[in-house]
Amino acid sequence: MKQSITSRIQAGGIASAVIVLLSACVSETPDVGSLEAVWVPAAERTEVHALGRGQTFGALLYGAIDANQQASLLLAFQEHADPRRLRERTEVTLRYLPENNELRGVDVAVSKDRTVRLDRDILGWNSQLIQTPIFVDTIYAMGEVTETFWGSVVNNEKLTSLTFEDRNLLIDHLDRVFQWQMDFSRQIRPGDNYRFAFEREVRPDGSMREGRLLAAEFVNSGTPYHAVYFDPNGDGRGSYFDLDGESVRRAFLLKPLSYRRISGRFSSGRRHPVLNTIRAHRGIDYAADRGTPVMATSDGVVVHRGSKGSFGNTVEIRHPNGWVTRYAHLSRFRSDVTLGTRVHQSDVIGYVGMSGLATGPHLHYEMLQNGRQFDPLSVDLPAGDPVPADDMVRWRGELTERYDLLKMIPRRGPVRTFVAEDEDAPAPEAPQPGGGV
Ligand SMILES: [Zn+2]
Repeated sequence: MKQSITSRIQAGGIASAVIVLLSACVSETPDVGSLEAVWVPAAERTEVHALGRGQTFGALLYGAIDANQQASLLLAFQEHADPRRLRERTEVTLRYLPENNELRGVDVAVSKDRTVRLDRDILGWNSQLIQTPIFVDTIYAMGEVTETFWGSVVNNEKLTSLTFEDRNLLIDHLDRVFQWQMDFSRQIRPGDNYRFAFEREVRPDGSMREGRLLAAEFVNSGTPYHAVYFDPNGDGRGSYFDLDGESVRRAFLLKPLSYRRISGRFSSGRRHPVLNTIRAHRGIDYAADRGTPVMATSDGVVVHRGSKGSFGNTVEIRHPNGWVTRYAHLSRFRSDVTLGTRVHQSDVIGYVGMSGLATGPHLHYEMLQNGRQFDPLSVDLPAGDPVPADDMVRWRGELTERYDLLKMIPRRGPVRTFVAEDEDAPAPEAPQPGGGV
């Protein structure tokens, strides 16, 4: 909001400067040797403040207006927002008349999408709520992975118009769509590539308000994975399906942490950093910052929640068919997750730490069936519900539309599996990673 207001003021200033220059040219003989700069005062002088910790709106205004004016201003403000509920770092712009330094207006960015604009007239202060205008656009991008997936997205030259934070949000979207098919922290190979169409709502300052992947393709070791958005109920809570209409969801997430916050590696035997001896280490260690939320990888019941020897603070969840997942070295548990709690896939159960035997903050994750350990990447799991039979016609139409968006983007790198370009004959099922258990 601040930027648009400031730029409008600047634009006004420049426009009046140009007018003055032109009229000067008309009425006077032009001095070719030296054109003097014409200084034009701005329509108003602005000061941008951020609300400090514990600072009230009234305290911020102190000195800018007298007590009566302040009471009138706060009353006008209350028509749209509660001055006592403003958050720290709320942006407050004070607008002054340049000739006498009198406060003529105040803008309070009460949320990312709304600004309360306060103006002073002869009767006192009045207010209006300004909605930040939003426009919708679609981003198309493709890229090839050289080292990390994160790096290839953040450094993607097609995405440089996005802020760094928005590029990271894009990675979160891709991670959430592919979290059952791909562990971007462990399965990436150089030459892997991707392309996607991402629809977003954008504010005037270019930042993203919300976004959604319409269609995405990730090619891992030559095998393409697809995720196409489909919303059968039209309530904005759709989900993702592959080109055959099969759900991308599986009974287990491949990893219990968001990709952006981890790095890790699976090994069958290695030197333990703390015990300094080789011992079977069949779990997966994900290095992540202390406090990173840890998610249950599947629906189940909490069967352990507490300290567990060298594992430190540990949660164990029992799932159908003899499966158990274990989450160790937590800094703390989520308070409402206790013994016997039923949890759902993606529910946060605790937070990364280094309790027990750990040299640094990380999550130790294990997936066991009847006491035997498995690498989650090698387990073939049943899929979620496919596109309902009743919705097949609409799905085919939307699939064509969205997959066409992807096909517009040239693909990089080799693809092992043949993908039919004819919509009536969708691509053959992509092989799942690893074998059955
Ligand atoms: Zn470990």
